[in-house]
Amino acid sequence: MSEHLPTSREDGDATVPGELGALRARADEVGRAVEAELAAASPGLGEIEAYRVGHRRLQAAGLLRLVVPASAGGAAVGELAPAATVSVRAMAACRQALAYRHAMADLAFVEQGLGSFPIALGSTDAGLLERLAGVARGEEIPALALTETGAGSDLSGVATRAERDGDDFVLTGAKTYITNIGVADFYTVLARTSGEPGERDGLTMFFVEHGAEGLGTRGFEVMAPHPIGELFLDGVRVPAAHVLGEIGAGMDLALANLARFRITVAAAANGFARRALAESVAHLSRREQFGRPLSSFQGLRFDLAEMDTRLRAAELLTAEAAAAVDAGQDATAQVARAKLFSTENASWVCDRAVQHHGGAGVRVGSVVERLFRDTRALRIYEGTSEVQKLVLAKHVLKHTPAPDAGASD
Ligand SMILES: Cc1cc2nc3c(=O)[nH]c(=O)nc-3n(C[C@H](O)[C@H](O)[C@H](O)COP(=O)(O)OP(=O)(O)OC[C@H]3O[C@@H](n4cnc5c(N)ncnc54)[C@H](O)[C@@H]3O)c2cc1C
Repeated sequence: MSEHLPTSREDGDATVPGELGALRARADEVGRAVEAELAAASPGLGEIEAYRVGHRRLQAAGLLRLVVPASAGGAAVGELAPAATVSVRAMAACRQALAYRHAMADLAFVEQGLGSFPIALGSTDAGLLERLAGVARGEEIPALALTETGAGSDLSGVATRAERDGDDFVLTGAKTYITNIGVADFYTVLARTSGEPGERDGLTMFFVEHGAEGLGTRGFEVMAPHPIGELFLDGVRVPAAHVLGEIGAGMDLALANLARFRITVAAAANGFARRALAESVAHLSRREQFGRPLSSFQGLRFDLAEMDTRLRAAELLTAEAAAAVDAGQDATAQVARAKLFSTENASWVCDRAVQHHGGAGVRVGSVVERLFRDTRALRIYEGTSEVQKLVLAKHVLKHTPAPDAGASD
């Protein structure tokens, strides 16, 4: 059963439709609660426990329904997107608000969709669709398993094998950098049903249970708290009904999944950056040196102006790309631009914010120190900045008219 989320016309921001204001407000409330609970925890929580705090609060607020299509038990989002898919504008509005408060709230929100959307894209199996409804209710946690040691930016390097055996497939291989290792109930896995590593064809996506015989996991740490690690598949048996999409069309399915979610990475980056700007303004206004507030020094004022301008540009690029994706247009270039600019900009803005705080900016536990670390991985996952540039360069070379043909946008 899908449920309508509240709508509001109170939002004065011209770049997003009014009904997104209500979503943002709800996400902000959840994000505040997560930030407060994690700040109050003593001793501090590990990444698995912290993730569960975010997940539980998102679940209670009903926000996890936004990352699953309404037709599969998610939330209806009115005009924003058809029932068979998810609205990237709705998800982006939530991610920016959640990231502003705490990375763990943002992560628990988006991973719920990123790991489960391949089911919506590639299955009509009643059992799997019920699992998807469970994801929307927050009862199950998914993980997306594409990357391997030999397959990062170039997924055609996937070497995990899926051999047909009667009515089943038997999966053998290893995945790495898999978010939600340690919390996931199931995985959507890209494996090779034919061909050799290096070939784009011959890949297929599968739904794999966490408890399956032969499956193992090992977590590792990255620079900002994040449940992540390796997934080992040692002869894991998967029924043919758990194939997602067509056999051999796994690369297209994996890319279609990322195409839906990638733009929301830009929104999260903008949330981190907006918080960093707010922290800078508060600190520079409060802190006095040389007998005056730091905010009265022109060098620092120029910084604030540049942070504000670049951040607004990032938000507008993100809004443009999200609207194009929701409208069903080919938005590859817009998404690449927004992801590239927003994530690179967030690192720059957070770095300036650390600088504005002086020594206080590098004290472990300060908000800007946390933001500085939280933003970094966004330039790497779901397509690195360099990969976004490759995509954009192809577009620019193809679509930029010759000088004598006149100007274009
Ligand atoms: C925090 C985090 C969470 C992640 N979560 C998941 C997850 O849940 N599921 C999952 O499947 N994966 C996940 N990943 C993996 C992520 O998608 C990969 O790290 C990413 O795609 C880059 O792959 P790689 O690390 O192998 O780097 P490589 O592909 O080896 O790239 C190394 C460097 O070379 C550059 N490069 C590569 N090719 C080119 C080129 N042609 N031209 C110019 N530069 C190039 C890259 O931009 C990068 O700077 C996660 C990663 C991180 C850091």
